[in-house]
Amino acid sequence: METKISKTDFALAAEYIRAGEAVAFHTETVYGLGANAFSDEAVKHIFSLKGRPSDNPLIVHVHRGYDIKPLIDSEPPYAKALREAFLPGPLTMVYPSTGKVSEYVSCGLNTLAIRVPSSVTAQKFLKEVDLPIAAPSANLSKHVSPVTAQHVMEDLCGKIPLILDGGACNGGIESTVLDCTGEVPKILRAGLVTREMIAKVAHGCEFYQKKEGEKPKSPGMSYKHYLPRCKTAFCESAEEAVKIYQAAEGTPYLLCESKTAKELEGFRVLDLGETGEEMAERLYALLHEGEKKATLLIAIQPTRKDGVMAGVLNRLHRAFGVNDGETK
Ligand code: AMP
Ligand code: MG
Repeated sequence: METKISKTDFALAAEYIRAGEAVAFHTETVYGLGANAFSDEAVKHIFSLKGRPSDNPLIVHVHRGYDIKPLIDSEPPYAKALREAFLPGPLTMVYPSTGKVSEYVSCGLNTLAIRVPSSVTAQKFLKEVDLPIAAPSANLSKHVSPVTAQHVMEDLCGKIPLILDGGACNGGIESTVLDCTGEVPKILRAGLVTREMIAKVAHGCEFYQKKEGEKPKSPGMSYKHYLPRCKTAFCESAEEAVKIYQAAEGTPYLLCESKTAKELEGFRVLDLGETGEEMAERLYALLHEGEKKATLLIAIQPTRKDGVMAGVLNRLHRAFGVNDGETK
């Protein structure tokens, strides 16, 4: 199949979706691979295109005017305030589900994750199709998430008919996934909407901690993810990284924050930036660049830990297999 890249083919995209196809589309976080959430076959097609494990649930995407009431069974008092504060935007809210969408979307969980992206391209597409669109990131399972249409092409060329190109994704990491089924909202996956931002609006917010023996609330978080297709190493300090770099054959690259990059003149460096937001925006783009240029990609632990860094560090560590004991 020919894969077309287009900035404007929204009606064609909607036609493909109604015919059961999957279409990739720009969002403000990463590119999504969307299909009709009401259709078992269309949703199963997404899992097969990506090689995604069948117990890793999908997020449903809707346009800003879409009525989600038929999809959700109930909502806690803080949910409305969170929607008003952060949507459209990079926050996915998990509600008790009415089970109206395909059972394959939530992989047997009794909850449904819903997101309203702010990207103009995503909104135009979702409005045109006017259906809930189940959409994981538009990459092969385990690989680095795509932040340009070209990255989508690299993984899915010939497998999908259309990519709706909205340029580079300036959010850069996936949405915050927030469990909204309990008294206090719990972060299942850190992202651009931070714990601090949510806590201010919802009068509290915690990071979800799986209890011993409990089934994971968000199965996707226990899988290997975001892996560049080159050898990698992870170092706590620049000194340690330089030793590995100097002992390496071929073309090693260092991946680090600007502060460290400034001390590494004369080395091949991929600079993540200074702030959490900059590092989020650049991380996947640099992992894509790194896997093409480097024989060995050596990441150095950033010093910043505040705000958006919870999400950046989660992705960086998983891309480099750090604290990976429980992942499959
Ligand atoms: P991806 O599609 O790769 O961005 O991953 C989607 C993330 O959302 C995974 O970490 C899933 O575990 C999580 N997710 C999707 N649906 C649900 C749900 N109903 N409950 C909890 N987490 C979910
Ligand atoms: Mg993904």
